[in-house]
Amino acid sequence: MSYHIATQTVHAGREDLTRLGVHATPIDLSSTYPTPDPNLAGESLDALVGGAEHAANPVYARLYNPTVARFEHALATLEGAEEAVAFGSGMAALTAVLLALQEHGRHIVAVRPLYGGSDHLLATGLLGTSVSFVDADDVADAIRADTALVLIETPANPTLHLVDIADVVRQAGTVPVLVDSTFATPILQRPLEHGAAMVLHSATKFLGGHGDVVAGVVACSAALAGKLRQVRILTGALLHPLGAFLLLRGLATLRLRVLAAEDNAILLANRLAQHPDVAAVHYPGRCRGRQAAIVHRQMSGPGCVLAFELHPGVDADRMLQSLRLITPAVSLGSVDTLIQRPAALTHRVVDPKARAASGVSEGLLRLSVGIEDAADLWADLQQAIEASGHGMAQAA
Ligand SMILES: *Cc1c(COP(=O)(O)O)cnc(C)c1O
Repeated sequence: MSYHIATQTVHAGREDLTRLGVHATPIDLSSTYPTPDPNLAGESLDALVGGAEHAANPVYARLYNPTVARFEHALATLEGAEEAVAFGSGMAALTAVLLALQEHGRHIVAVRPLYGGSDHLLATGLLGTSVSFVDADDVADAIRADTALVLIETPANPTLHLVDIADVVRQAGTVPVLVDSTFATPILQRPLEHGAAMVLHSATKFLGGHGDVVAGVVACSAALAGKLRQVRILTGALLHPLGAFLLLRGLATLRLRVLAAEDNAILLANRLAQHPDVAAVHYPGRCRGRQAAIVHRQMSGPGCVLAFELHPGVDADRMLQSLRLITPAVSLGSVDTLIQRPAALTHRVVDPKARAASGVSEGLLRLSVGIEDAADLWADLQQAIEASGHGMAQAA
């Protein structure tokens, strides 16, 4: 029986707890497991190293951990995927995907903007891949015989630019499409339903939701998941079981947190757009034309992250320093509101020309809206803007 998503967020990964006679998720911290039957242990090791989801004997924690498997099962359920594979960070998850697909070729097609670290990993070619950065409409033209992957991020970090998943999937043909859906979460967008082969999350962000765990996860077919587990065993990019426990706890409130923060984000986006010192607001809830049609087609809400630009004459960094409640910090998706200037921090590693061309202006500010009272958030933004500008608001 398949439950609604509100039920899934609370129960997925916990289905067997009543049968086990416990209520809280058990945390298994074993680094090794007893192997009284050497034959069974050997067969289990063969199976796990070959990519199996589980085996009779876990043998060693780099091969399998039951607490991590609970989180993976929960995330796969929420994304409507066969399986999911968790890693020690979002970047470790992307690394595993790039390594796992190299048997098909080493060329990647990607649409900018991407998270700064993802852009940097592709641009440096550290893992032996080469990349063609193209507009979303030009994906088909960029596909080559050795293209192993198409990578898109929607909504994109940090501009909130939207990419039509189904259209990119159509252009990619037989090449698998990976959607980084970190900003949307499975509450607002499920890329596999639109034909994507893989969905990636920096679980550090909304899935954890409380700013206290670094993790990544990929949801996909059983066949791809097996390859990712093989890479994870070889590279050791593991999620720690305590992190998996925190992520399962985070998932239980994911829907409530996303919906509450989204209400706040809608209000702040509208207020910012009316403020005389604000030059532009970028938010899926405020876009028009083709971008609005994409929101309608593939998202059930505009989400909890927005970006905005101040008029010249209002100093963005001074604005950040004038905030009293909102925390200037990288990362996003926490219960509390965070703000940062991508050109100075998260996207500092991206080639400045490419950065500007993809809409990441020097003054762009990215705001990850939390679940505080919206009136307090707006009052803080307003006082900080007015403390750092030429007072157009007062003159108006
Ligand atoms: C943060 C982030 C990443 C990287 O994840 P880490 O957990 O920091 O390694 C990847 N993609 C997006 C969209 C992100 O915001």
